[in-house]
Parts: sequence; structure tokens; C-alpha cells
Amino acid sequence: MFNIILFGPPGSGKGTQSEKLIDRYGFKHLSTGDLLRSEIANKTPLGLEAKSLMDKGQLVPDEVVIGMIDSALDANPGVNGFLFDGFPRTTAQAEALDKLLSLKKSEIGVVVALQVPEEELISRMLNRAKTSGRSDDADEQVQRNRLSVYTRDTLPVADHYRTYGKVEEVVGLGSIEDIFGRLTAVIDSKKGAPA
Ligand code: ADP
Repeated sequence: MFNIILFGPPGSGKGTQSEKLIDRYGFKHLSTGDLLRSEIANKTPLGLEAKSLMDKGQLVPDEVVIGMIDSALDANPGVNGFLFDGFPRTTAQAEALDKLLSLKKSEIGVVVALQVPEEELISRMLNRAKTSGRSDDADEQVQRNRLSVYTRDTLPVADHYRTYGKVEEVVGLGSIEDIFGRLTAVIDSKKGAPA
């Protein structure tokens, strides 16, 4: 099993690239943002609690997302790897993930960190708001809040994995195909080319 964290700020293209990566490598895609939006769509109590935080650009509590990931790992035995997208977003989540994977005799193979300048992120998110229907995309103040939460709470996750030598930086500018090419080059060099 080869597991990847696709790491980067909101709007850096993790969702777009994740879809292409799962097509190419057959990873199981685990996006905490998607899992939370499905709770909201199903109007579960967890979804109701999460929505008000997400709409303000704040993080959902660690216990909640860690619980969701724990269940998703258990629900997918025998996959050839997981692609984590939007998770872990705090050091506590990273430590919990490392423990959950080690219980399954596995680990993170590589953390690919997409690098995109802040003004480009804001413009992508505002653009995405026109079609995504996501209530957290439309407001520039919420965007800025998400970016400051990212800098404060999420960037330390990269440092956590840097201490294990697992972080590879990838430029997240250019065409979708250009970025995909850079990502697959990194992944292939870490896991060996797909059969
Ligand atoms: P993006 O891809 O734009 O970063 P996501 O879809 O990953 O957005 O997440 C949307 C929102 O869902 C976040 O702003 C946050 O409120 C919540 N969320 C998603 N994943 C997590 C997580 N791992 N921990 C805490 N909150 C999360």
C-alpha cells in the first residue's frame, strides 16, 4: 500500500488533481471536505455542526474529521493506497493519521505540497464560486480567513512530515496537465512507475 497526502492551501487545485491521480493510480480518494459536504447534504447532526464552521472558513474539530477518516480506512480494506486530500489539516490530525496507518502496518509514502501564490488562490476560489455552489467560496473575507487558518494551523503539518523527509514541493501554476505531469513525476519516483 502506498499512501499520499496531497497538500496545499485552499484553491491550490487539490480536488482537480486528486481526480486525475485516482484515475491514473487507482488510489482510494479520501477528501474530508467532500465527506463533510456529504454529511451536510444528508442533513446529519454532524453536517449541521460542520456547516456553520465551514461557512466561516474555520476548521471542523479534529475529533470529528479523525473519526471520519478512521471509519473510511476501515471501510476500504485491501486498497492499493489512499490519497488524502484536505487532510490532515492540523498537527494533531497528522499524528492521529500516522497512528491509524501504523495500526494497519502502513505509512505515508509522500506528501506532495502544491505551491501557489495567495492572490492566485483568491482569484481561483472566487472563480470557482460561480459554479461550485459552495457557500464558503463566494465571500472574499471568508477566503482570507481560510488562508490565515491554513497558515496558522495547516502549514505546520508540512513541517511534521518534513522531519521524516517525506515532503516534495511542486509548483501549482500552469495548465492542469503541466501540474499533473509534475505530480506524477514525483509520485513515480517514490513508488515506482505504475504497471
Ligand atoms: P479546499 O479544497 O478549498 O481547501 P475543502 O473542501 O478541503 O476545501 O474544505 C472545506 C472546509 O471543510 C474547510 O474550510 C473546513 O472548514 C472543513 N474541513 C475540511 N477538511 C477538514 C479537516 N481535515 N479538518 C478540519 N476541517 C476541515
